[in-house]
Amino acid sequence: MSGRLFVVGLGPGSAEQVTPQALAAVAEASEFYGYGPYLERLDLRPDQRRIASDNREELGRARAALESAAAGRDVCVVSGGDPGVFAMAAAICEAVEVGPDAWRQVDIRVVPGITAMLAVAARAGAPLGHDFCALSLSDNLKPWPVITARLKAAASCGFVIAIYNPISRSRPWQLGEALEILRAILTAETPVVFGRAVGRKDERFLVTSLAEADANMADMATCIIVGSLETRRIKRPGMPDLVYTPRFSKGLPA
Ligand code: SAH
Repeated sequence: MSGRLFVVGLGPGSAEQVTPQALAAVAEASEFYGYGPYLERLDLRPDQRRIASDNREELGRARAALESAAAGRDVCVVSGGDPGVFAMAAAICEAVEVGPDAWRQVDIRVVPGITAMLAVAARAGAPLGHDFCALSLSDNLKPWPVITARLKAAASCGFVIAIYNPISRSRPWQLGEALEILRAILTAETPVVFGRAVGRKDERFLVTSLAEADANMADMATCIIVGSLETRRIKRPGMPDLVYTPRFSKGLPA
């Protein structure tokens, strides 16, 4: 008999943002697969085992977890944020599609989590109050021209854009180029929110304008929200600006 495979989102970082459903799934599994720092966040019993892997080894990790669940164990694969957003749930599905028949009999349960852009948006006010999209800036899994075409299309038709995977050591120049593309379409005052490690001890949060936004303001733990032409910044005495996108739109820019 196959075991169960829980694909669990642990939220952006703080324990309060882990759902009761995620905690229940963790309590039921005996083996835990994931990127080391995510596994560290779990409070496990002595009978529960961690199997850590590098964050670039997602497909190998997915296969190992499926193999173990197919052999009858209850297994948990963990992601930060939501497992369906640029994370392990899709890797599991990719592995099942081309894998042995036995993997199709595994009881796969995806447990959602609070994704990074929602945690960042909540800190800022309501930048995602109107239409928005999410885009990974990583060109590891798609060609760079696809990314620039999507950025241009999204910005030109009024989407607020949440940018995941903005920069890393192996991708140092892409964010700078992305900001240049956006500056050619949007106004200089367009609000831009940088939320780093939101919900963790090393959290950093910054609201700026598109004119001032700089690639140095981000690292690989940052999620950036770029406003639309309708996103606004409200000044408040002694408090950070409130960033929001009104629920109504006046239409596309001329
Ligand atoms: N599944 C995750 C996203 C994985 S992609 C989720 O739903 O949040 C990794 C990217 O997520 C990072 O490069 C960063 O852009 C973003 N991210 C993850 N955790 C974050 C956090 N606590 N604060 C800000 N951004 C975060």
